[in-house]
Amino acid sequence: MSDTPVIGVLALQGDVREHLIALASADALARPVRRPEELAGVDGLVIPGGESTTMSKLAVLFGMMEPLRERVRAGMPVYGTCAGMIMLADKILDPRAGQETVGGIDMIVRRNAFGRQNESFEASVTVRGIEEDTQGPVEGVFIRAPWVESVGASVQVLAEHRGHMVAVRQKNALATSFHPELTGDHRVHALFVEMVRAVL
Ligand code: GLN
Repeated sequence: MSDTPVIGVLALQGDVREHLIALASADALARPVRRPEELAGVDGLVIPGGESTTMSKLAVLFGMMEPLRERVRAGMPVYGTCAGMIMLADKILDPRAGQETVGGIDMIVRRNAFGRQNESFEASVTVRGIEEDTQGPVEGVFIRAPWVESVGASVQVLAEHRGHMVAVRQKNALATSFHPELTGDHRVHALFVEMVRAVL
């Protein structure tokens, strides 16, 4: 199938393997991306959950920060979960000293907004653009999850939880506070694969 999109998972830190599996289940060719040459070979990219401060440091260290910004600016579809959402924020409310982001979504995020590791939780989330007919709402896994504090006019809010924005999209960039890669429900990944297919 020549129109099978090749989707990378940024593999500097975080839950890379789970995303590779979810993407493959959603009919994409999935591969890890660590170096600029590897980034050049993918049609879209997932930035996984993990720890955004570490991921940011490693992206700079591996010479990936600028190439990532360039691809996202040029319209490459990108999907960030949790720490990945933080990486896609144009602004972090409470960054660590020197913490940089790739940016791409005109939003301000608050890190660890839903609490600490031991306050992690699961909740049903209705996500715009995801059919609920057969499987119901998406089960959101929130682990030291950020929320979106505010968005610019060109950002679409796809989901809220407890009155806070937890899924957003701006053009080719998608971000969720939660981790669909951990649930076996691949509807959010399928939505992203469609976004990538649309620009092939
Ligand atoms: N709180 C973490 C951060 O700042 C994100 C946690 C996660 O990705 N599960 O990066």
